[in-house]
Amino acid sequence: MTEPRPSHVHGADEPPLIEDTIGRHFDARVAARPDALALVVRHEGVRLSYGELAARVDACAAGLLGLGLEPGDRIGIWSPSSTAWVVTQLATAKAGLVLVNVNPAYRATELEHALAQSRCRALVTAPRFKASDYLAILAELAPELAASAPGELAAARLPSLRWVVRTGGEPTPGTLDFADLPARATPASRARLGELAPRLHPTDPVNIQFTSGTTGFPTGATLSHRNILNNGFFVGEAMRLGPEDRLCIPVPLYHCFGMVLGNLACITHGSAMIFPSEAFDPRATLAAVEAERCTALHGVPTMFIAELDHPDFAGFDLSSLRTGIMAGAPCPVAVMKRVVSEMHMAEVTIAYGMTETSPVSFQSSPSDPLARRVSTVGRIQPHLEVKLVDVAGQVVPRGTPGELCTRGYSVMRGYWGDEERTREAIDADGFMHTGDLATLDDEGYCNIVGRLKDLVIRGGENVYPREVEEFLYRHPKVQEVQVFGVPDAKYGEELCAWVKLREGETATEQELRDHCRGRIAHYKVPRYVKLVTEFPMTVTGKVQKYVMRERMRAELARDEAETA
Ligand code: AMP
Repeated sequence: MTEPRPSHVHGADEPPLIEDTIGRHFDARVAARPDALALVVRHEGVRLSYGELAARVDACAAGLLGLGLEPGDRIGIWSPSSTAWVVTQLATAKAGLVLVNVNPAYRATELEHALAQSRCRALVTAPRFKASDYLAILAELAPELAASAPGELAAARLPSLRWVVRTGGEPTPGTLDFADLPARATPASRARLGELAPRLHPTDPVNIQFTSGTTGFPTGATLSHRNILNNGFFVGEAMRLGPEDRLCIPVPLYHCFGMVLGNLACITHGSAMIFPSEAFDPRATLAAVEAERCTALHGVPTMFIAELDHPDFAGFDLSSLRTGIMAGAPCPVAVMKRVVSEMHMAEVTIAYGMTETSPVSFQSSPSDPLARRVSTVGRIQPHLEVKLVDVAGQVVPRGTPGELCTRGYSVMRGYWGDEERTREAIDADGFMHTGDLATLDDEGYCNIVGRLKDLVIRGGENVYPREVEEFLYRHPKVQEVQVFGVPDAKYGEELCAWVKLREGETATEQELRDHCRGRIAHYKVPRYVKLVTEFPMTVTGKVQKYVMRERMRAELARDEAETA
């Protein structure tokens, strides 16, 4: 008998990695096609060619150096999608600064944590976003700002922060207007920018991303030019992007989905970045695709669902679409099929990854058979290595679930200022332990079966939530479903499903349980089914199962107390 093949795969070693900095690579792209469309920000009425974008980037970079910021300094950005975001991303890379992405949904405590932990010397901030008055939150954290001269902030709670640069065009005490940054450039800072270009190294840190908080604890993954420039490039390769492509980017920029799979994938291929709105809006996204004749569209599964189910969906002409990426969470087969047939995205790909690996390590290819393309996260990306291991660290055979561990150029430098957590995440051999459970088939296609922590063990049986979710998706009244475990005295854990029904539908919890009964193993039939109208989510559209679990646990404890 032949030995079962181990779940250990290596990506292709062609094309070669880009051994360059983001700034130098961007400049080369600009020089190749200065007049090509680079950026459209619909909600700001901005349209820039690569040449025009580069001029803004250089002016901003020289301005940042003119403020006295030094290579290696950290600078935060707290803003929804905007021209300023893209310009700051590229300008900080050119000036050798480390951009710290602050989630637009953060409030005072999280903002303080992000800025203090990374010791930011400057912050670029929007004045407000949705219901959040950013300047009021900043005033609460740094009341000293109002009485400081710009650049001379000395705040007790944010001791490293000197500069607050705000967008939006209204003057505020203590801050510098983003539009005035170019005026801060000096002949010396411009010369410095030129001198820095050849001296910056691809492995220098360029970005700190606080991970999304599906686990509830934000940590700052430190990523280098080499990490994210290459990841953006290979992700764009898998979509077959080229200078004629226009990618609609409704996903947030503070997350790698926006700034790497969106911006850097475009820049490395000379494609155009199209931003439909400040934050995700299904109608604005559909309108942007139609108006700009976008050829590609990104989104987490819930965004595609919101677009497909929008009452005006049928009225939009999406025939220009070809490709795009669905990622960030399990991508239901039924949704993928609708994206192909109803949104014309015949070459849509699924990507899998995590912030700590820049992010993507698996991605499907337009040439994969449709069945594989809609039901797996594809095969391993070039220059990467992945193995699936059991609890003892042994590689599992193909087809058996194991924890996905990634090694190669994409693995982060570490968690900023936290060696202990870095050592817990990246082992001595350089493998990043993702905490995701996956299987690999004989051809190397990967299936994500759930988070290690979300695996439900009911009476000794392992239940992979994804499998039960996929089953419930087949019910015609179900729009979205999330399955997770809740503590149970008898079985250790019981299975619970939160279900969102399609608009106008009604169903009983029993009806949904009956749909499963007899068709999947009894221990996979959810003991609890709850009909809900929304799920707790992060701003990147990731469902927070730990929040649902906690709410359900409290609800069940209350019910039990009432019946006792
Ligand atoms: P983040 O670091 O915020 O990008 O979150 C990464 C996590 O999102 C991964 O560890 C996975 O649990 C999940 N994830 C990302 N992409 C996928 C995908 N295509 N399918 C299933 N889960 C995914």
